[in-house]
Amino acid sequence: QTTLNKQNIENTLNDAFNKFKDLKEGKNADYIKELANVDPNIFGIALVTADGAVYTKGDITSMVSIQSISKVFTMAKVIEQEGPQFLQDKIGVNATGLPFNSIVAVEMHKGDKINPLVNPGAIATTSLIRGNDSIAKWKDIQKIQSDFAGRQLSMNRPVYISEASDNLRNQAIAHLLLAYNRIYFDPAQATDLYTKQCALNVNVKDLATMAATLANGGVNPVTKKKVVSQSTVMYTLPVMATAGLYDNSGIWLFNSGLSAKSGVGGGILAVCPGKFGIAVISPPLDESGNSLKAQKVIQYVVEKLKANPYWIE
Ligand code: GLN
Repeated sequence: QTTLNKQNIENTLNDAFNKFKDLKEGKNADYIKELANVDPNIFGIALVTADGAVYTKGDITSMVSIQSISKVFTMAKVIEQEGPQFLQDKIGVNATGLPFNSIVAVEMHKGDKINPLVNPGAIATTSLIRGNDSIAKWKDIQKIQSDFAGRQLSMNRPVYISEASDNLRNQAIAHLLLAYNRIYFDPAQATDLYTKQCALNVNVKDLATMAATLANGGVNPVTKKKVVSQSTVMYTLPVMATAGLYDNSGIWLFNSGLSAKSGVGGGILAVCPGKFGIAVISPPLDESGNSLKAQKVIQYVVEKLKANPYWIE
């Protein structure tokens, strides 16, 4: 495709960076106390093509906690191991349309019809990872996230401790799921695994590589490792399209056309199938918990590179 050449990608990332760098709206998440201390000026963009070319602009060294973006890859692991029907039956794949930590979303259907990309469904998805105990499950979770990123990811301990000591709401969600038989491992331990996976540290290139692995049918285009099957990718991307930006997912899809996932650490990644993965880190968030700058940058780049999959030339 003519628009996806080196010069054009570099110019577009430069333009996007300059256009949005001074935007000051939004606010760091602070319900996880440690996140309030993250530098709100971190701003980095990375685009990794499906054939492994890496483009970056701005801050590519700062690390933030991956938070909800991790939900995609744990879900992909469950689809890979158990198949898509299993995910649909045990968790559900309809968007809740409600905030990411909604208890109402669980109560409304008595634990049925939750979604793997918001907290209740994500905690339940974590509980489905195979392994006899918490240690074995954690090893698998860390491995799948790391394989997508193409390097060993490690946990941000202060963020983990901060959230683990203050996540009564997620604990309540996990216990409510147990009351409805919709969690598949000890609820306290499942919540702990979930909290750990959310605390994995990533830079913007890690996130873009994770997205690029999905854009490339499950093969990490940088390391060349086959991480998941094409079929798993085919079932992962639609869940991201319908629920990747929480209760703002419809507006996001309307404006970008891309499957994406955000996290309250300030990252967003998006997938342009067959072409590239893109990610932006900028901690200040909008009301739904999505990075403000990241949304704007990705939408701008997608438009300039004519990468909206629904744009038919
Ligand atoms: N760990 C966070 C939580 O459970 C993740 C939320 C998010 O990124 N939206 O609240």
